[in-house]
Amino acid sequence: MISFTLTEEQAALQKAAREFADKHIRPYAREIDRQPSTHFDWKIVDRFVAGGYMAYNIPKEYGGPGIDMLTCAIVCEEFAAACAGISGVLGGTMLFCNCLKVGGTEEQKKEYFTLLADNKGRVGAMALTERQAGSDMGNVGLLARREGDEYILNGVKCYISNAGVADFYMVLATTDPAKKYAGLDFFIVPADTPGFSVGKIEDKIGLRAEQTGELIFENARIPAANLLGKPSTGFLIALQALDLSRPLVAVNAVGIARAAYEVALDYARKRVQFGRPIFKNQAVAFALADMATTIDAMRLMIWRACSLIDEGKEYTKEGSMAKLFASEAAVEICIKAMHLAGAAGYSRDLPLEKYLRDAKSLTIIEGTSEIQRHVISEEL
Ligand SMILES: Cc1cc2nc3c(=O)[nH]c(=O)nc-3n(C[C@H](O)[C@H](O)[C@H](O)COP(=O)(O)OP(=O)(O)OC[C@H]3O[C@@H](n4cnc5c(N)ncnc54)[C@H](O)[C@@H]3O)c2cc1C
Repeated sequence: MISFTLTEEQAALQKAAREFADKHIRPYAREIDRQPSTHFDWKIVDRFVAGGYMAYNIPKEYGGPGIDMLTCAIVCEEFAAACAGISGVLGGTMLFCNCLKVGGTEEQKKEYFTLLADNKGRVGAMALTERQAGSDMGNVGLLARREGDEYILNGVKCYISNAGVADFYMVLATTDPAKKYAGLDFFIVPADTPGFSVGKIEDKIGLRAEQTGELIFENARIPAANLLGKPSTGFLIALQALDLSRPLVAVNAVGIARAAYEVALDYARKRVQFGRPIFKNQAVAFALADMATTIDAMRLMIWRACSLIDEGKEYTKEGSMAKLFASEAAVEICIKAMHLAGAAGYSRDLPLEKYLRDAKSLTIIEGTSEIQRHVISEEL
């Protein structure tokens, strides 16, 4: 049976998340957006800790709330609608958790989920990207060389969310570059590992609240037990973890689009030209009707993908479709909203320019739109 009515629990969690976002995210969103990219505002983590949201996608048996994917999406939409950059700090941690979920051994899950779930404000990150390995994961060059009971890591990751903020990094490396995909493995690297440091922090145009930057490994030594799961499984784990996180990237898109639409609707009702609110012009009202319709479609695609995940069914295609459609639509909706608000929309008096900057990132991260089309077409 398909139901589009939230359960009592989901409705209560959605309401609590909206109240949390109104109080603890929205008021700071624009201030944090304008701070230098090298400044990370720790009150983001403090607030998520206070709200009990830091370990939101950790299973119950490891100390997390045990929330299903659909409920997680419903809650995270509220955070993204308030500020996708701030919500991105949670997103980076969820990426770490997704890798652990799909590929970790029981001991690794116990150790790291428990550390993240104890609500002390620990943050996670996932590091795939390198200068020569963006969409092309098989080109990862960060080298992991086994020496006794340790691996020695050398190389550089870039554009990593939560760089310099995370306590643990899930790092994709190659143990044998000649083997390409089959030589890839994930390694759990604690931030205090000798030989590990954080390099350049990117001056991104959007999602400025989350710090994104380089990770540098210079003979960084980690115990062999920090190889995630079984050897040579890094590529598969990466694909599965990305599959799992795509609906949540789409959630950020629906949150931003909703926020932009609400600003535009409010503006259209209040702005008077030619003696009446501009909303009274059919061209304006229809543009808003299209935006509302698209937002509904985005959300329904996300809910479908999440429901499939919760039911243990195949969801790769539906997750990619949701990410592709929602991220592209969010950019269009932000541009439309900006247009409806005229010069005010183009100025920083309204938050629409921020929404547009934030939305554009979502067509790039965790697989660009072309990569989603590739994933979808492979599934056809
Ligand atoms: C805000 C932000 C946060 C990020 N956070 C993280 C993170 O936490 N961890 C992490 O590992 N990475 C992160 N990234 C990096 C992100 O995952 C990569 O930017 C993304 O995978 C694309 O890689 P690239 O930038 O090298 O683009 P490229 O792969 O160089 O692609 C450039 C263009 O070519 C197109 N293209 C490439 N290959 C093909 C093809 N086969 N067919 C058609 N078109 C193609 C792409 O679609 C794109 O338009 C982040 C990026 C941003 C912007």
